[in-house]
Amino acid sequence: MNVTELTCSKCHLRYPPGRPYQVCQCGKPLLVQYDLDEVARALTRNRLLERPATLWRYREVLPVERDENIVTLGEGFTPLVPARRLAQKLGLRHLYIKDESFNPTDSFKARGMAVAVSMARELGLTKLAVPSAGNAASALAAYAARAGLEAVIFMPRDVPQANLVEVRTSGARIELVDGVITDCARRLVERQQSEGYFDLSTLKEPYRVEGKKTMGYELAEQMGWRLPDVILYPTGGGTGLIGMWKAFDEMEALGWIDAHRPRMVAVQSEGCAPIVRAFEAGQSEAEEFPHPRTIAAGLRVPRAIADFLILDILRRSKGRAVAVSDDAIMRAIGELASSEGLLAAPEGAACLPALERLIDEAEVSRDDRIVLFNTASGLKYLHLFSTP
Ligand SMILES: *Cc1c(COP(=O)(O)O)cnc(C)c1O
Ligand SMILES: [Zn+2]
Repeated sequence: MNVTELTCSKCHLRYPPGRPYQVCQCGKPLLVQYDLDEVARALTRNRLLERPATLWRYREVLPVERDENIVTLGEGFTPLVPARRLAQKLGLRHLYIKDESFNPTDSFKARGMAVAVSMARELGLTKLAVPSAGNAASALAAYAARAGLEAVIFMPRDVPQANLVEVRTSGARIELVDGVITDCARRLVERQQSEGYFDLSTLKEPYRVEGKKTMGYELAEQMGWRLPDVILYPTGGGTGLIGMWKAFDEMEALGWIDAHRPRMVAVQSEGCAPIVRAFEAGQSEAEEFPHPRTIAAGLRVPRAIADFLILDILRRSKGRAVAVSDDAIMRAIGELASSEGLLAAPEGAACLPALERLIDEAEVSRDDRIVLFNTASGLKYLHLFSTP
């Protein structure tokens, strides 16, 4: 195993591996550290070519110690699709869509949950709980079922129907909460003492972000070990953004990429844009966004525990935070489907109007290599479409 320790992302306090952790004693997220010299000796870029097309190809930089603890449904190594027709319409030359709808349970939440549930098994945890706007619930329910572990899921009462069906069918216990994901999280914490479950909330345990960081490894590998110039990422809790940034640093330490970093652009909905507000106000933390409302369920996150990390990455990468309207998101779903044949989730589709804004403001240029993240399948959101 290559894990050396876990360190706090805020106060840098260090913790030994091999036991279950939630957050640091200061309340902020813990991040896994690896012996990257050891990894570099064991794994080269070329050796990856022989590996299976899942995120477990990056086994040496994942925290699971013993192979038999891995719980997998074949997650990761999703296609990076060139969007030629869309690029032409927008006057761009290199536009790609990282299509995360190919993951098990049809969203990229599978990446985080595959690794977190594997670690839960390794650490002997048996009862797992999560607050979720939808797709994290579906993913935990699936991986817990596969691992034979108990799952308790706290979801908003108005969660997308597809998520409710997935969770219910897999046999997980469902608690419906009046409110949004932060209200679900509060309810979970109230019950945690008496019920004794482990909290798998985004960045309140150290391993979901390890699963999601593999998107960064894949981008580098799929782009010939040269990172793109701009990444647009629909941001809720920010797990993917933080994970990819961590992956970039790890790959540079491994000697796999150079110091070039993409400009990271956090995309949110105007109805719930805490990160955009904080970014524009020059703040280093984000206030809770009042009355969050958006069709993009995964972006209905009014407060993120790792707000300070997200904002720091946006600034250090010379990136941006952009909010788009729900109407623009619905139009973008149509545009992506009709020009590229891809039925995107509203969260992923939000990246398109955000990109158009950056083009209008001359923040991206024709020759930039640009990646949009489609984070789930549009088929999980049929309730947004009126059928005849
Ligand atoms: C959870 C979710 C997001 C936000 O992901 P984070 O990495 O937590 O910011 C975006 N899109 C979809 C479809 C999601 O389910
Ligand atoms: Zn700390």
